[in-house]
Amino acid sequence: MQTELSTLYRSLGISEKVQAFGEQVLEELKDRFEQIDLVAEYNQMKVLKAMQEHQVSEACLLGTTGYGYNDLGRDTLEAVYASVFHTEDALVRPQITCGTHALALALMSNLRPGDELLSPVGKPYDTLEEVIGIRPSKGSLAEYGITYRQVDLLEDGSFDFDNIRQAINEKTRLVTIQRSKGYQTRPTLSVSRIGQLIAFIKEIKPDVICMVDNCYGEFVETIEPSDVGADMVVGSLIKNPGGGLAPIGGYIAGKREYVENAAYRLTSPGLGKEVGASLGILKDFYQGLFLAPIVTAGALKGAIFAANLYERQGFKVVPNSTESRHDIIQAVEFGTPEGVIAFCQGVQAAAPIDSHVTPEPWDMPGYDAKVIMAAGAFVSGSSIELSADGPIKPPYAVYFQGGLTWQHAKFGILKSLQSCVDKKITVSKFFP
Ligand SMILES: *Cc1c(COP(=O)(O)O)cnc(C)c1O
Repeated sequence: MQTELSTLYRSLGISEKVQAFGEQVLEELKDRFEQIDLVAEYNQMKVLKAMQEHQVSEACLLGTTGYGYNDLGRDTLEAVYASVFHTEDALVRPQITCGTHALALALMSNLRPGDELLSPVGKPYDTLEEVIGIRPSKGSLAEYGITYRQVDLLEDGSFDFDNIRQAINEKTRLVTIQRSKGYQTRPTLSVSRIGQLIAFIKEIKPDVICMVDNCYGEFVETIEPSDVGADMVVGSLIKNPGGGLAPIGGYIAGKREYVENAAYRLTSPGLGKEVGASLGILKDFYQGLFLAPIVTAGALKGAIFAANLYERQGFKVVPNSTESRHDIIQAVEFGTPEGVIAFCQGVQAAAPIDSHVTPEPWDMPGYDAKVIMAAGAFVSGSSIELSADGPIKPPYAVYFQGGLTWQHAKFGILKSLQSCVDKKITVSKFFP
């Protein structure tokens, strides 16, 4: 078996040395992977239990058209999401186009002119800057007279409790907490730390709405932010909870009132959740959610494997090889443009789709430097699938995430290393 596998790896362009190095690194990760499998098993049962409790039936997999009144499958799916996240209600729709849209919807529907939004964990994800109006944009919260305040994390990544206390005032209506570091260098927040922050905030102002941007975090732990006091958790179905099968979509799970506000904004005041045909998409939403715990576990193993592999090659990796994980993103700092490019080209060459194309850095709209992206995905732009991207600017870091199966994530990482070795990017003694 090992010989056949090695032969297949050779034919896929992985050298004996790279494969052996990968196996050596993996040998030390067995215990950690076992822990990840346990979390996945727990979350698999959590999702299954929710589906059984709500009696998901074959009829739920069919869709409606037109207005979509009495869409059994849609309404049941939202009940399943509410059970998984232990919330009163949920909005899970293909009409929510992506994570940014879900977050914008949650904010715009629950804030009113004169209210203030607070981020106590520093700058939010790039695409939210225009939603909030940090960068001026049409239709931003700022245009509607909603102000914004931000308290950065302290140097060591801890919460700046003093300044958070001072920032909360009579106007503060909603607090947004981003779980994942996204493409920043701050640490990702564990669910337990999010719980501490929410408790602190609620003690100062009990009626403030605490929303968590849950993107990239779902099913990484056995609990979600809604289990530790979050009033709303919001995310993208093109990431973890879509399990790689959802071709579009976003979700908002939380208190009934806040979910209803979001539904009234998404469709129309008065119509809310009652309309919104699911078309033919429900089977993928259900099946994607069902697979999501396992897909997320595979992606998490990939991130940890990449961290260990590249740390041993002498590169700085964030999170490092031993840190506990709370999302599926892995950064590797190459320090040179060539490293970023070689890595991404290796990941692209490992893809099931478009493996024959070679990505190059390009001037992407909205970015101040050239960006290179590797994505050979079944769902366009999906980052729960094996993907990598990096801006061509110091510190020349590449961000890697996803992999629908652990085996594919592993291959993608080996392929990236092979690409670095072939282009003589590695600094390690293993590959002189
Ligand atoms: C991906 C992401 C978003 C935005 O989601 P899209 O689906 O790309 O619009 C928001 N916040 C975080 C932390 C993310 O990782």
